[in-house]
Amino acid sequence: MPKKDYYEILGVSKNATDVELKKAYRQLAIKYHPDKNPGDKEAEEKFKEAAEAYEILSDPNKRTRYDQFGHAGMGGAGGGFGGGGMSTEDIFSHFGDIFGSAFGGGFSGGFSSRPQQVQGSNLRIRIALTLKEIVNGTEKTVKVKRFKLAEGATSKTCSTCHGTGQTRRVMNTPFGQMQTQTVCGTCGGTGKVANHIPPGANNQGLVRVEESVSIKIPEGVREGVQLQVRGKGNDAPFGGIPGDLIVVIEEIEDEQLKREGDNLHYELYVSVPEAIIGTKQDVPTVNGKVRITVDAGTQSGKILRLKGKGLPQINGYNFGDLFVHINVWTPNLNKLSKEQKEFFEKMIDNENFSPKPTSQDKTFFEKMRDMFS
Ligand SMILES: [Zn+2]
Repeated sequence: MPKKDYYEILGVSKNATDVELKKAYRQLAIKYHPDKNPGDKEAEEKFKEAAEAYEILSDPNKRTRYDQFGHAGMGGAGGGFGGGGMSTEDIFSHFGDIFGSAFGGGFSGGFSSRPQQVQGSNLRIRIALTLKEIVNGTEKTVKVKRFKLAEGATSKTCSTCHGTGQTRRVMNTPFGQMQTQTVCGTCGGTGKVANHIPPGANNQGLVRVEESVSIKIPEGVREGVQLQVRGKGNDAPFGGIPGDLIVVIEEIEDEQLKREGDNLHYELYVSVPEAIIGTKQDVPTVNGKVRITVDAGTQSGKILRLKGKGLPQINGYNFGDLFVHINVWTPNLNKLSKEQKEFFEKMIDNENFSPKPTSQDKTFFEKMRDMFS
């Protein structure tokens, strides 16, 4: 099923301000909140959908990427990547930021009394891909050094907050008694503290280990695109959820094919006789070679367009094109034999060899302009 547009989900325009986004999300979150719609699956879905849309659009970086690449830019094509998989827990963890204390008591028990989910820090790695890997997608196994909860590390319930992760205080105000909650300073909000720490682990029970992580890279990624592998960052201290592994895509420049957006360019050299008589030549593409025909009498600078032999567009099923630029290779005079030299000397004033460009023989820029118009 195609994913719905995030702006549509929130019912805002593409140039909605942060305030408008927040307002729209707040309304939807209240309407579809699980506490208000117990057992209603559809409401739950809508609730999650809105949270995901808000998560992306409220983050300037993610929003820019989404505006540019749509859902594909969020790395949503692979199973393990973020964007699509927000749990209700994740959503609740965002609530505090958005609704603040004004809404603190508005929703029943649900999230206000649960320990805070502390998240481990994210890790970042760079992966360099060839054009072939970009076109076809690939799977890479990388070694990642991450903090992991040590074997034998145990925790116990925090005695300060009794496992709730929060401490409450009742204040008297002109509007009556108000209860405020703050994150427990002893356990940092997790509700748990270390009980036994095995040797070699830090005071949060974490050890540094090297792990192999397999990363599925969808086809059509680009330099700078970030993929998110959930849970493969650093583990959180007791009771938290692990951070993510952020994979930044780099492109390895191809020796033969130059990339320009979704299109590729290749410089093909033919000899003077081949340009006059015509020839068939193999041209490299991302997936193997294709044979092309250079017609008799082909001018240097001619561009052949191989449709669909470029790169997949990041947000669709279309492919760019491969442009073959034909260059006629002029031989070095000193390398020519006596007969060859004499032949060309004779041809200098020959009518058949004198240039007579017509309107068909356009300049490079005119040709490129025509192709894209
Ligand atoms: Zn505590």
